[in-house]
Amino acid sequence: MKRRDVIKNLSILPAAGVIMGSTAPFGSAVASPSLPAAAKPDLFKELGVRTFINARGTITAISGCLMHDYVMDAINSSSKKFCMIDELQDKVGEKIAEMVHAEAATVTAGCWSAMVLGTAGVLTRMDQKKVEQLPNVEGMKSEILVQKTHNHAYVHALTNTGATIVEVETADDVAKAVNEKTAMMWFLNYAANDGKISDKEWVALGKKFNIPTMIDMAADVPPVSNLWKYNDMGFDLVCISGGKGIRGPQSAGILMGRKDLVAAARLSAPPRGGNIGRGMKVNKEEILGMYVALKHYISYDHEKEWKMWEDRVAVINKAVKNINGVTTEVTVPPIANHTPTLNITWDTTKIKISGSEMTKALINGNPAIEASGGNNSLSVAPWMMVSGEEKIVAARIREELLKASA
Ligand SMILES: *Cc1c(COP(=O)(O)O)cnc(C)c1O
Repeated sequence: MKRRDVIKNLSILPAAGVIMGSTAPFGSAVASPSLPAAAKPDLFKELGVRTFINARGTITAISGCLMHDYVMDAINSSSKKFCMIDELQDKVGEKIAEMVHAEAATVTAGCWSAMVLGTAGVLTRMDQKKVEQLPNVEGMKSEILVQKTHNHAYVHALTNTGATIVEVETADDVAKAVNEKTAMMWFLNYAANDGKISDKEWVALGKKFNIPTMIDMAADVPPVSNLWKYNDMGFDLVCISGGKGIRGPQSAGILMGRKDLVAAARLSAPPRGGNIGRGMKVNKEEILGMYVALKHYISYDHEKEWKMWEDRVAVINKAVKNINGVTTEVTVPPIANHTPTLNITWDTTKIKISGSEMTKALINGNPAIEASGGNNSLSVAPWMMVSGEEKIVAARIREELLKASA
């Protein structure tokens, strides 16, 4: 066989990358432009990394979401040219701002990064000396008001700047806590129903005391309208993840809001160095991937998508609900991860398997399935599945429940 034919034949073997591994340094034939491309190697297989059906949702540890082809097209096509990062951020920021009813926007390395950079901007404003001084906050306003029930792990993004958290519970507490050191008021949207002060009141208090307000709504689309709701409400800064409901790059997010504050935030962001945000780089691929993902997300047929998720839930529900000892319920988390979710509970005197044994059986099965388990329950959020996978999930859960039935 001629070399050309050898490569052509190899390209139809699924493990071509592995076979070529001994001669080609990166595991696949590096074809000259005139030769047909070798089959793409399955890197997960090559490395022995387990892949699975996602029945849990947009959790960071399980790699979040799958990007649509149009996002990958934006990433691939932009990877072939150079541009100035600031110019791209300016242009993309303008477009995003328009879409979300904000004065300004910028693409960050996730929602967490949006919160660090946004807070830094509030602390330093346009003072370059202060930008370089962080996380030393001497001479700056540096106290951030947070409702006690909102004071969860994610506040670390705020304290990363050197700022400190001051807990409050009521509007009276806010009035008492405000002093010449108060820099910002932060609101954690998923905890909105747990606190004594609502989002609107929080904004009103910020305006009353002339303190910028920030909201963390990382995982809070759908509904799509949340993209502009909090900008319209009057929050000065709004932070969201790119790689959750919007299905952009995992390593992207958006900081949106007041023009002066977004501009100040960018002083702490790459491509500039000598600041606390230098490690939060987004390159042109993530910036454009984020932009395209958002644009398409806004133009989705959201009702149709919702119906598709409900149909998936119905397929799984139908497969398990009549098993003796099983109860099912379809719920929709009210704020974060607001999508149809199937909760399957069973009577352990009839079905002898625990929730954790069930999740273990699913992840060790073939194909592997990642789902959340409780004591004697399983929660299935099908929104990040690939269409058709719901049938596999339905059959596997049914199989395990029947196997454990007395
Ligand atoms: C996911 C999440 C974050 C972090 O967002 P990234 O985009 O992963 O950086 C922050 N806050 C909340 C409430 C989240 O759910």
